[in-house]
Amino acid sequence: MLDVMESMRLRVSGLLHELPRGKTLPDELWVRRQNGILLLLAAHVPGLFLYALYRGVGVVHAALEAALVAVFAWGATVLRRERRWSTVAAALGLLTSSAVLVHLSDGLIEMHFHFFVVIGIVTLYQDWEPFLIAIVYVVVEHGVGGAVLPGAVYNHAGGVENPWAYAALHGAFILAMSGAGVASWRLNERLISQVSTRQDALTEAQHIARLGSWEWDIRTDEVTWSDQLHVITGVPRHVPASLSLFLEGVHPDDLPVVESEVREMLGDGSDREFQLRWRMPDGEVRWMHARSHTRERDATGAVVRVSGTMQDSTERMVTDASLRQTLSLLNATLDSTADGILVVDLDGVVTTMSRRFVDMWRLEPANAVPGVPVRDLTASVLDQLRDPDEFLDRARALNRSLEAESHDVIEFVDGRVFERYSTPQRVGGEVVGRVWTCRDVTEHKQLQDDLAHQAFHDPLTGLANQALFRALVEHAIARFGRTQVPVAVLFIDLDDFKTVNDSLGHTVGDELLVAVSERLGHCVRPADTTARLGGDEFAVLIEEASSAEEASAIAERILEALRRPLQVSGKELYASASIGIAFGHAGLHGDQLLRNADLAMYTAKRKGRRRFEVYEPDMHAAAIARLELEADLRGAVARGELVVHYQPIVDLTSGTTRGVEALVRWLHPTRGLILPDVFIAVAEETDLINEIGGFVLEVACAQVREWQHSPGREELIVTVNLSPRQLLDETITERVASVLARSGLSPSALVLEITEGAMVHDADLAVSRLDALKALGVHLAIDDFGTGYSSLSYLHRLPIDIVKIDRSFVEQLDRDDASLASAIVSMAQALQLTTIAEGVETPHQLSVLRDLGCELAQGFHLAMPADADTVSALLGIPVRTRLVATLPD
Ligand code: C2E
Ligand code: CA
Ligand code: CA
Repeated sequence: MLDVMESMRLRVSGLLHELPRGKTLPDELWVRRQNGILLLLAAHVPGLFLYALYRGVGVVHAALEAALVAVFAWGATVLRRERRWSTVAAALGLLTSSAVLVHLSDGLIEMHFHFFVVIGIVTLYQDWEPFLIAIVYVVVEHGVGGAVLPGAVYNHAGGVENPWAYAALHGAFILAMSGAGVASWRLNERLISQVSTRQDALTEAQHIARLGSWEWDIRTDEVTWSDQLHVITGVPRHVPASLSLFLEGVHPDDLPVVESEVREMLGDGSDREFQLRWRMPDGEVRWMHARSHTRERDATGAVVRVSGTMQDSTERMVTDASLRQTLSLLNATLDSTADGILVVDLDGVVTTMSRRFVDMWRLEPANAVPGVPVRDLTASVLDQLRDPDEFLDRARALNRSLEAESHDVIEFVDGRVFERYSTPQRVGGEVVGRVWTCRDVTEHKQLQDDLAHQAFHDPLTGLANQALFRALVEHAIARFGRTQVPVAVLFIDLDDFKTVNDSLGHTVGDELLVAVSERLGHCVRPADTTARLGGDEFAVLIEEASSAEEASAIAERILEALRRPLQVSGKELYASASIGIAFGHAGLHGDQLLRNADLAMYTAKRKGRRRFEVYEPDMHAAAIARLELEADLRGAVARGELVVHYQPIVDLTSGTTRGVEALVRWLHPTRGLILPDVFIAVAEETDLINEIGGFVLEVACAQVREWQHSPGREELIVTVNLSPRQLLDETITERVASVLARSGLSPSALVLEITEGAMVHDADLAVSRLDALKALGVHLAIDDFGTGYSSLSYLHRLPIDIVKIDRSFVEQLDRDDASLASAIVSMAQALQLTTIAEGVETPHQLSVLRDLGCELAQGFHLAMPADADTVSALLGIPVRTRLVATLPD
């Protein structure tokens, strides 16, 4: 039961819902319709009046009938502002007209049609009030009128007899008519609401888009603008639209363009689209985007109706401009960056390419434009690359994986090196291509290589440095452990390099080192490594030394190569080296191998330099002893441990003692007497030689001056050994002069002995020192003559007076070989030099020397070196006072 009620209720409400709402007619429209209806109503007043006269009712009656309608017409007109009352009045007026018409026609049934017409008209109000009034009016008028005055309503017997029944019949028709009216009203209402919704939406859309529309009927020259077009152009809505209104608003600069567009539009009727600047009434200029479309052509094809839109595009133009600016900035950046940039889309087509990229890859003009397939680009550069296959492989791998990022290095045949980065290009997260960036890192790479080289090479000579050499030795030793391939190290130390540096300066010293390193390079095999360990120390790593002889042969070659003078700073300098050789063996560390070679080198030094020695295990002990010796020697002079012995020098013709050679001795507190051969070399390597040499000179001069006081010994001379190191000392001349002055010895009684070694490095300097000494009045002797490498030829350049024939040549005399001794004597004679033979041990040697014309001699056969007391006795001089050794102050 309840369900039925509910469904009924729903059906009713559904039905009600279908009924028209009413009050939906827009005011504007109502006004227009009302005006028409009022006109119609007003027309009824004279119409009814005339019809009444025609029906012969008399003027007064006719006027009354017409007045009835006129009242309503007047009311509806007066109440025009009150929509509802005006409507009601007009509706009543019309209905009353119907009633009057029926009444005047004595109920003529055809006149009832007027009611139907009125109902139709009232429907135009689309409102319930007039409509309901109309229905009620019709029904009531028929019913009441029929009952009271049937003749005024019906003109047939049925109606007159049964007025209510006929009233009901008329009412039913009226209702049916009303139903039709309501239906059409309802449909009308819907249509209007739809249209207005659409219109609203369109207006809203135009508003949002800041887009206005227009239409131009060329035949009538009627132009209509949408509201929004008025809004965006700033032209008030009441100003009537026209073509000239439009052209007035266009910016003068754009007028020619706009006019030509309009001509085109009217000419061929093509759709147009263009930009123009619009001057707003307040003076502001805004950008408009205009479009037109031909809507209609006439039979001849001429354009007769056009519509179009105009959209405010100022914001977009501003955005576009800033976009263009960004783009130009981007392009400028792209072209000015030091990196080369290439962008390739997913189809493998180049979309962007920076100028720098074109330069860097030396692209052909044909390939240097966006749009080329990257394949062509790649093909054109392959021959520049060091490894084209690898390049292609990597490119293919990247092509397979869209998302991959990569960084690699590309090497070119001509040495250039590029660093390359690759990243996917994305738009809104989606990969659309790939960006390649190339950076020329050639210089950077070069710098890196240089630095790496510097870390392991000696900057001066370019040879391997100590760090690299040690590593290589370690490596070679490790390999020896596996393969038993022999390894040898040559340790090379220049002799007296310190002297060169001190006397000629570091620049010359450096140049000498470079020259030596070049010589060394020629002596080793390509597989061997030459290194500068520091200072004047060099080393050679000989790998695969097939035998000990091979290493020795290389050492020989080095010594031989250094015999020739080196061209340094326009001078001819000599360098000699002492070389130590050591071999690797199982269990030996690289460091130990180097130390062994070093020890062997020291041994070579001690054994007289300019030679090589192969390492032997007992060299360790010797080295230690040597170190101890050096420590002991320091301060030996101060402690009074050094003494001077003298060996007489005898005249071979007269047999008299012409002089003595001063020879130093060391009275070591624990080791006893030590001969100079043992410690002079150590002293020479340190600065001790100057101290020792000065001491000997001082003591010898004083002693000989003392002996000269004895009768017959006034002419006694003394020879004092001067080591190369002493000769190169700048103060040597002053020192000698002051010693002479202190002792009172005549300079002519002093002979300074120098060896050829003093001439080794810089003969010019040595000669100038000798000249200075010579200027003091002292005599100079060449000691150990013939043992050095120097030729006899330069002897004449030296300011010397005496040549001392080395013991080795004297020895040869016993083997009946007098050739060298003879040559030296005759050459000395030719140069008017005095000769002193050394180490004369036999009477035979003595007689041969005398026969050769040698003037003086010394040797064990004649007299052993001995202390001053012994020599005094030998000279027949009574020992008066012992000279106390004193240091020169
Ligand atoms: P030297 O200048 O050639 O001195 C001669 C050396 O021959 C001395 O050795 C001497 O004892 C030795 N001698 C002399 N006669 C004979 C002989 O008949 N047979 C043999 N086998 N030897 C003989 P010494 O004193 O041991 O000196 C060795 C070297 O030490 C010297 O050779 C000299 O170069 C150096 N020396 C010695 N004293 C000094 C010095 O005060 N200053 C410097 N700078 N060097 C010195
Ligand atoms: Ca000597
Ligand atoms: Ca000598």
